[in-house]
Amino acid sequence: MRARCPAHPDADLKPAVVTAEDRFWGLDGTFTYGACPTCGTWVLDPRPAPADMGPYYARYYPEHELTQRAEAMRDKPIAQALGLEWLRALDVVKRLTKLRARPTAEQRLLDAGCGAGAFLRAMREQTGVKVQGVDFDPKCRDFAGATYQVPVDAGELAQQAYPAGHFHLVTSWHCLEHVYDPQAELTELARVLAPGGRLLVETPTAGWLGRLFRGRWLYLQAPTHLYHFTPATLQALVERAGLAVEAVRRPWLPSELAGSLLMALGLKGFAPRLLGRGGGWRERLWRAGLWLLLPLDVLCTLLLKALGDGGVVQIIARKPASEG
Ligand SMILES: [Zn+2]
Repeated sequence: MRARCPAHPDADLKPAVVTAEDRFWGLDGTFTYGACPTCGTWVLDPRPAPADMGPYYARYYPEHELTQRAEAMRDKPIAQALGLEWLRALDVVKRLTKLRARPTAEQRLLDAGCGAGAFLRAMREQTGVKVQGVDFDPKCRDFAGATYQVPVDAGELAQQAYPAGHFHLVTSWHCLEHVYDPQAELTELARVLAPGGRLLVETPTAGWLGRLFRGRWLYLQAPTHLYHFTPATLQALVERAGLAVEAVRRPWLPSELAGSLLMALGLKGFAPRLLGRGGGWRERLWRAGLWLLLPLDVLCTLLLKALGDGGVVQIIARKPASEG
């Protein structure tokens, strides 16, 4: 399947700015990204048809891993709360409070592409907001329901047919780059948002480290990442969905440098080899390398953030109170 820049569909892509293997999951195949000549967004081109994507997502939420996690966390509120999603929720609440949009117990939050649901649980604990998730993988629905009592609908967002204006806050974390038609996804997210409500969307973007490491960049994640939007293009897509952009940030997300350096040294299979437990001496060596590189990573990614760069972009946008 050929692809186009979602913001500039008439422009012919500059062929193969990046040729890459799947270094994140370690599956076979070679993939290429073209760059939009107008905005510089990287587009996976050609790309697998949606029906052929299954194998590349098979390891996202392995059944045995979710079962182990569910067992470990059952009736343990502290174990459930620990983790990056709690910090992410703290940061979101802080941002929204500054915008006078702190979620309340009367309001509803939708997280599109919610994964295992830990962010929704954290938001509910911190603000009392009523939460709803949607994710393509039914295993996420089962896990989030059983472990966190967080309701999750399985399937694509558009299939859910949520009522217009139903949610006061809609979030989408590292999801839009997986979607074949991101403009349609944003338009649907804006439709279900209540007038005056906020959308928060975060995706990877090829900053300095992305352009340096290219095929060995940690966040490239071919072929599941169909796009690497530039911040300006993501903003344009959000505005075309009818929303008013209030903030464009490059939040700090460590490990971009360390992961990319390990891939440059030959690591294939970042997620299965480094994020799991066990494995042989090679896995232990790679994991030791990650820990060794982490201080340098933290220093470098904090410096990039201070310079207004970094591997992710986050946008907060408001739905106008009246139509028009
Ligand atoms: Zn473009």
